[in-house]
Amino acid sequence: MKTFFRSSIILSAGLALFLPLLLSSSAGATSGFEVLVTTFPIYQIARNVAAGSDALNIDIMLPSRMGCPHDYILTPRDIRKLEKADILMINGLGMEGFLESAIESAKPGMKVIDSSAGIEEILYYEDEYEHNNLDLGRDNDSFNPHLFASPRMAAKIAVNIASQLSRIHPEGAKVYSRNANLYALRMNLLGEDLAELGRRLKNNRVVTQHGVFDYLARDMGLKIIGTVLSPEGQDPSAAEMLETVRLIREQKAGAVFIEPQYPSRTAETIAREAGIPFAELDPAATGPANAPLDHYEDVMRKNIVILGTTLGTL
Ligand SMILES: [Zn+2]
Repeated sequence: MKTFFRSSIILSAGLALFLPLLLSSSAGATSGFEVLVTTFPIYQIARNVAAGSDALNIDIMLPSRMGCPHDYILTPRDIRKLEKADILMINGLGMEGFLESAIESAKPGMKVIDSSAGIEEILYYEDEYEHNNLDLGRDNDSFNPHLFASPRMAAKIAVNIASQLSRIHPEGAKVYSRNANLYALRMNLLGEDLAELGRRLKNNRVVTQHGVFDYLARDMGLKIIGTVLSPEGQDPSAAEMLETVRLIREQKAGAVFIEPQYPSRTAETIAREAGIPFAELDPAATGPANAPLDHYEDVMRKNIVILGTTLGTL
């Protein structure tokens, strides 16, 4: 069920099996909609899209400091939040595997907004890594769900969220659409700056810690020659570590980039063994509980500096 939540159409069909279809007068009549967003990056985009609207009460399901919920298991607290939600907003592309068994706890008539639904240009892990011969036990059809770490994809997510929110709450459509378009503009400008840096880098071949930067790398023309961890965040075996070191030397990679969301020791060992620098890039998968609305841009601007100083520029 890796493809769970891939499409809102499939999801709606799935929900219909569990839930009586009460066409909603459930929200709106009172003080607005309880919106529950699963992960921090989508929560931040949703807050930007809804800024200035008082019809949505937006909450986050998973702790903002947690990072990617690969292998996450729901807690009773999460389920209580789910029971209250009028709208559940998800990353999609398989990121929310942990919700499969819990969706029955949802309120009848709860709407689901899949922030990645309908976005084309999706990457698959097998396409990304087919050249490096590592057997990482991946499903052949597994989507890479980390759209959010690419500003260009974040722009599409914002527009997507606005249009799905507008269908549920047409009165807010104007605000959502204006906010999303402005946000998309800012994201695309940021994306241009990253792409411009990509063209000036002395070395564009890198190793990352897990698949979180694949969409960003595509935007920038970075070539990810390998990852330290499996897509689910598992540590490599000794043989896999040696293979990554060999690839770094063979392809003359410029750096290993670690993420603040994962322990760095294995990645540091690989970088030292291969004799190349390592540095921290932040995919903005985490942040403070009440992060400023421009937290993502702040983080990406720091990434631009780190990429430039670590890989060198022409
Ligand atoms: Zn991840």
